Amino acid sequence: MKNIIIIGGGIIGLSTAYYLQQEGCKVSVIDKSNISKGASFVNAGYISPSHVIPLAAPGMVGTGLKMMLNTASPFYLKPRFDIDLWRWAWAFKKSATAKHVKKSAPIIKDLTIFSRELYQDMKNSQLFDFHYEQKGMLMCYQTAEFEDKEALIAEVAKAQGLEVKHIGKETLLKMEPELKAKGAFYYLCDAHTTPGDFMQKMHQYLASKGVAFYTNETVLDFNYSGSKIQSVSTSKRNLNFDELVIASGSWSPSLAKKLGIKLLVQAGKGYRINVHRPTGINYPAILAERNTAVSPMAGFTRFGGTMEISGINHNINFKRVKAIADAAKSFYPNITINKDEMRDADCGLRPLSPDGLPFIGRTKKFKNLCFATGHAMMGWSQGPATGKIISEIITDKKPTLKIEGFNPNRKF
Ligand SMILES: Cc1cc2nc3c(=O)[nH]c(=O)nc-3n(C[C@H](O)[C@H](O)[C@H](O)COP(=O)(O)OP(=O)(O)OC[C@H]3O[C@@H](n4cnc5c(N)ncnc54)[C@H](O)[C@@H]3O)c2cc1C
Repeated sequence: MKNIIIIGGGIIGLSTAYYLQQEGCKVSVIDKSNISKGASFVNAGYISPSHVIPLAAPGMVGTGLKMMLNTASPFYLKPRFDIDLWRWAWAFKKSATAKHVKKSAPIIKDLTIFSRELYQDMKNSQLFDFHYEQKGMLMCYQTAEFEDKEALIAEVAKAQGLEVKHIGKETLLKMEPELKAKGAFYYLCDAHTTPGDFMQKMHQYLASKGVAFYTNETVLDFNYSGSKIQSVSTSKRNLNFDELVIASGSWSPSLAKKLGIKLLVQAGKGYRINVHRPTGINYPAILAERNTAVSPMAGFTRFGGTMEISGINHNINFKRVKAIADAAKSFYPNITINKDEMRDADCGLRPLSPDGLPFIGRTKKFKNLCFATGHAMMGWSQGPATGKIISEIITDKKPTLKIEGFNPNRKF
């Protein structure tokens, strides 16, 4: 029986544990938290094949530079003297080309569709119950400018075989009476969940199946020689293993550094506000002009957004929280997010790779090390597929999907 250690109990780490446990491996998950917060808890819960365009796309560098000057903008890069940030930014700029988008769109789509199928399988298996609905996502706009922008994006999605309908104001109002928008592109391929609910139930299920959890325990260092890593040292103990998976989200580069590996990942902070009262919102939606996501979750509505590249910190910038509340008001005029709801806002760090594709697979340097990270805005969507692929690699099976695009050894 192979003995596997996974560092990180976010959606990627737990999904990896789920499939490795099913393969009969002995699995342990180490997390420095008690697995109740961070990106995998605050996200919008979308499983979104609609998002086929990687973050590194033409126009993003210009948009980022413009928005850098506005403290309430949905996108922000805090300039700082940090060689890793500038290496990442350079690699991002090089990747932001039309050619890269064309090559990446089918790879991203395949991974996300596969992952949505795996979420459905988990739901059907009834091993643990969780909120999952596939009622699509409305990409809503209020201006002709954004209608045109979104029409181009919808064409890219349609070219990938995804079902997208353009709907006008009247139909939209019937679906979503509270919404003030000119129209929407309706992505029928998307599903949504309630992340905290899923994470808690998955965690409990795995523990009941014998997966060992070392929580509130930080991995500090590794013991390795030649091409094999023998053990990890945590804040409490040393643990040996046959195979190691680094699924540590935005913290993965600092762990990689201890192993002499350069992994280009920056943290992209995002915020969420929960509204625990009836909002009348029926459909998950993205408010295009405001880059804000809206999700009707189990028992509450979540509003989320912003992409703040300002290093590893969980400081809450209230200007950005207020900008999310204002965005909600401008699209749903009857909904006012109050001060208590804003004060309760939380944030999480998306692990951003420079080219918008995750790092999934074995490293060249160590034969018993896999990375599973760098999923950016798509980690919730792509968690189960990533976990499944890592389990296939570790148990020497042919991966269900082609994995070349996710090679963690790729050069930028
Ligand atoms: C506001 C917001 C909205 C989002 N919406 C969506 C969405 O709708 N759909 C979607 O697909 N994605 C979405 N995302 C992105 C998604 O949430 C992330 O990509 C995903 O959660 C990343 O998961 P992860 O497991 O890689 O990282 P994390 O969830 O960050 O987990 C990494 C874990 O590693 C642990 N760790 C780190 N270092 C160590 C160490 N040294 N020792 C022990 N433990 C360690 C951490 O404590 C952490 O628990 C959103 C993100 C945000 C912030």
